[in-house]
Amino acid sequence: MSNIAADVDAWITENWDTSLTLREWWRRLAAAGYSQPTWPVGIGGCNADGATARTISESMGARGVIAAPTGMGPHMAAPMIMKHGTDEHKAELIKIATGEQHWCQLFSEPEAGSDLASVRCSAVRDGEEYIVNGQKVWNSGADAADHGLLLARTDFTAQKHAGVSFLLIDMLQPGVEVRPLVTMNGSAHFCEVFLTDARARATDLIGSEGGGWAVATTVLGLERKMAASGSARGALTVTAGPKSGNLDRTVGELFEMAREKAKEKPQAMINSSRVLIKEAQKSGVNHDPVMRDDLARYHIRSEVYRLTNLRARHTGGSGPEASIAKIALSGMARHSRDLGMRIAGAGGMLVGNDAVSGGALQYAALSTAGVSIGGGTDEIQHNVIGERALGLPKEPS
Ligand SMILES: Cc1cc2nc3c(=O)[nH]c(=O)nc-3n(C[C@H](O)[C@H](O)[C@H](O)COP(=O)(O)OP(=O)(O)OC[C@H]3O[C@@H](n4cnc5c(N)ncnc54)[C@H](O)[C@@H]3O)c2cc1C
Repeated sequence: MSNIAADVDAWITENWDTSLTLREWWRRLAAAGYSQPTWPVGIGGCNADGATARTISESMGARGVIAAPTGMGPHMAAPMIMKHGTDEHKAELIKIATGEQHWCQLFSEPEAGSDLASVRCSAVRDGEEYIVNGQKVWNSGADAADHGLLLARTDFTAQKHAGVSFLLIDMLQPGVEVRPLVTMNGSAHFCEVFLTDARARATDLIGSEGGGWAVATTVLGLERKMAASGSARGALTVTAGPKSGNLDRTVGELFEMAREKAKEKPQAMINSSRVLIKEAQKSGVNHDPVMRDDLARYHIRSEVYRLTNLRARHTGGSGPEASIAKIALSGMARHSRDLGMRIAGAGGMLVGNDAVSGGALQYAALSTAGVSIGGGTDEIQHNVIGERALGLPKEPS
């Protein structure tokens, strides 16, 4: 065991207790610098490099504790604020490390997805505030969020990229209505958000008015990086923020709730080779040489993905490396879906509790499409690689 792994292990022995509230557990993690290890000391980090941060998160996984806050707050909002935010915004970062804030991304609209600069949601300056009106869609976790990263148009006469601004917005105000959207896998992973005379503080404008595109580009890069990265195995991930209701639950209670939830519905959008091999053994198809071959191919593919992703993280990459890892993940999801359905055979037509293993193979199969769309579609990732890594000519707008 490395020194840092031994330190984390000893720290967990001293600090982990199932009667702690989540709030207290996350507060302790942040105070020790283990919440977001690569961040500076004092705001939840310990100035760790990427490899050390990975060791810390793997050590927590090995002990099966509750993972540090994750998702759009730590992975998108915070690094964006470190780059573009004011001192006032930076002073709040500790709240992301302690899980007191939970963030969502309000970018996509019914007529603006890949072509994001076409956003029509408007933000009009009114004294010390902006008044925001419009509709956002496909916003992951918006129903649990208390803060939003908003891309809105402040100038309808300017060239489209020049007319957009970037604002932070309070999701818990009356002008923000969030409606969960249920997709074909039966889950409401994302929402549509209606903004009607909602207010954003003028001090929460990030960058200049009309200069939001540069900030959005930072966030899109961070999103690709987050979408491509996996989570450390073993630790339980819990939703942060006041709206989730988790902060005052004990960590023991949260483990119990997660066990019950897993019984009700499968959770994995992509099945690992370990799971697929187990399912193949269960249904007896593991003796088929063609199936064995494909399972081995999938295992190799998963390993290549893991290493590609490590390379992307090692280079700190939110650029082409993250796009390559994201495309590798989409390919893996499709492979996992096809293998899973071949293992299930005719049983693949059943879902939920009627199906073998509670429908885990079917749930993942019905989730596959989302993997290659969320965080930017495969085609858009190919464009990023072509234009930014290979220097190919930009496609005509
Ligand atoms: C699981 C999931 C989570 C998401 N979470 C969020 C979120 O939290 N916040 C948020 O704001 N949005 C979120 N989205 C929305 C996501 O960013 C958009 O769906 C995505 O950018 C595509 O936009 P669109 O759906 O409008 O499709 P379109 O942009 O209309 O694309 C339709 C098709 O055309 C192709 N296409 C479009 N433009 C080009 C081009 N220039 N070159 C080649 N092909 C092109 C696309 O690849 C796609 O196949 C999420 C989506 C999913 C599936």
